[in-house]
Amino acid sequence: MDLNTIETVLRPHSRSELPDWSGGDAFVAGGTWLFSEPQPGTRRLVDLASLGWPPHRIDADGLTLAATCTIAQLDRLELPADWTAALLVGQCCRALLGSFKIWTVATVGGNLCLALPAGPMIALATALEGVCRIWSPDGAERDLPVTDLVLAPQRTALRPGEILRGVFLPAAALTRRTAFRRASLSPNGRSGALLIGTRDRGGGFALTVTASVTRPLRLAFAGLPEGDVLARTLDAAIPDDLYYDDVHGRPDWRRAVTRHLAREIRDALAGEPAA
Ligand SMILES: Cc1cc2nc3c(=O)[nH]c(=O)nc-3n(C[C@H](O)[C@H](O)[C@H](O)COP(=O)(O)OP(=O)(O)OC[C@H]3O[C@@H](n4cnc5c(N)ncnc54)[C@H](O)[C@@H]3O)c2cc1C
Repeated sequence: MDLNTIETVLRPHSRSELPDWSGGDAFVAGGTWLFSEPQPGTRRLVDLASLGWPPHRIDADGLTLAATCTIAQLDRLELPADWTAALLVGQCCRALLGSFKIWTVATVGGNLCLALPAGPMIALATALEGVCRIWSPDGAERDLPVTDLVLAPQRTALRPGEILRGVFLPAAALTRRTAFRRASLSPNGRSGALLIGTRDRGGGFALTVTASVTRPLRLAFAGLPEGDVLARTLDAAIPDDLYYDDVHGRPDWRRAVTRHLAREIRDALAGEPAA
């Protein structure tokens, strides 16, 4: 939509060209959300795409994604064969049910910063123990686990003027076995629950719960929990008011689906861990 309150659009080409932050400023990445609804308080847009960050880097330590990497660029990425968890990348990209027009501009960073419960990049980064690199307006940088970045629907730990520069996914997490489950109220509906299980070579199991809850959770276990232990741990970690309530699902439905999918994931990863 036409944002008729905007007076200025800045396109910085380097960090030194970023303007001093002031009220009425907003960063724009792909703009798929920003331009989807009125932004009455916004006067100036700072376009992050013009910074020209390389979208991704693969090295022995893991995968680094620039915040401006698009969903389409991420989905096309060829990852090392021994990164078994790479399967999650395509599964999470496809959980953002937009057309190719959305995919080619929507960014990983925009998805994280928007902090919607159904943010599939939030699910991916949580399951793979992603660490966010944040640029502060004073020139400093800080790192934050993604579970500490996303606090509540449309609320993050970013301070005014802070930019999400990227997210790092460690190689150790990328070599885990995974199981992905997603449920929505309609075939092409937004995720009502999106859960990911991972199992490492030592047998350690972790369950990531997103979309059904107001903020992402990652529950880690030394080994595969029995079904009743998993259910009790879920109930203890997710009080009723943490289940999300909107048109994409009522809390009681989300709770039931979360329990069900968690059990399915546990069973799917019950086999022997890879040697
Ligand atoms: C058809 C359709 C389906 C969609 N489905 C989903 C879905 O299933 N799940 C979901 O979560 N979203 C969904 N969205 C919403 C949105 O498209 C995605 O969340 C997308 O990933 C947002 O990325 P963007 O780059 O377009 O963000 P923008 O719209 O550019 O920005 C989103 C917000 O993040 C801020 N921001 C962006 N990048 C940064 C940065 N690097 N540092 C600091 N702040 C930043 C912006 O200021 C803004 O507040 C959907 C949208 C459409 C149109």
